[in-house]
Amino acid sequence: MRIVLVGPPGAGKGTQAAYLAENLSIPHISTGDLFRANISQGTPLGKQAQEYMRAGQLVPDEVTIGMAEDRMNQADAAGGFLLDGFPRNLAQAEALDGFLREHDLSVDAVLDLEVPEDEVVKRIAGRRTCRNDSAHTFHVEYKKPQAEGVCDECGGELYQREDDSEETVRKRLEVYHRETEPIIDYYKSKGLVVTISALGKVNEVTQRAMDALAAKAA
Ligand code: AMP
Repeated sequence: MRIVLVGPPGAGKGTQAAYLAENLSIPHISTGDLFRANISQGTPLGKQAQEYMRAGQLVPDEVTIGMAEDRMNQADAAGGFLLDGFPRNLAQAEALDGFLREHDLSVDAVLDLEVPEDEVVKRIAGRRTCRNDSAHTFHVEYKKPQAEGVCDECGGELYQREDDSEETVRKRLEVYHRETEPIIDYYKSKGLVVTISALGKVNEVTQRAMDALAAKAA
């Protein structure tokens, strides 16, 4: 199955993508994680991406599309994948369609995670992320780790992402409305979108998502 996950920053895309990918036995491909890995390794691609990410802006399509295609071309993605954070604008959605078409493939479903805007800002400004695995996230109020600054799942160090400050979150939300929301209409016109609420416990949202995807495939 080839699934695209969309939703504003703070909807829980990374967390849900990790569980869904595991349940569906497909790789979780996050362009944000790929950029962060490039930044921590100091690659030229990481250097190109860093300033845009700091500012809450989209990294240019020339850089992003090539990186996403390289990842989708890897052997583990041949049987399907779950895309998290890509495509993020119409040009990327069209590039993805073109890439899949070349392989006689297409997107099977687009899962849209809905969450109210005031909730998004609260979630992100208090979010703490594990350096070992960005799907391990905590919150200073709603999901405190047992020991401050330490990931409950793997013992990794928790940190606040540079782009998780309130000011940058507002910028990222603006970019989401302007650039990313139009892809929901694009995919709706192809009958691919399933929308679910991203409120509630993590496992409840995962179940809701699995049910919605199963209903879509039926
Ligand atoms: P994320 O981890 O998905 O929240 O992404 C963090 C940041 O990485 C975004 O705010 C962008 O600066 C950059 N980024 C991730 N995916 C993309 C994409 N598909 N296109 C452009 N920039 C992206």
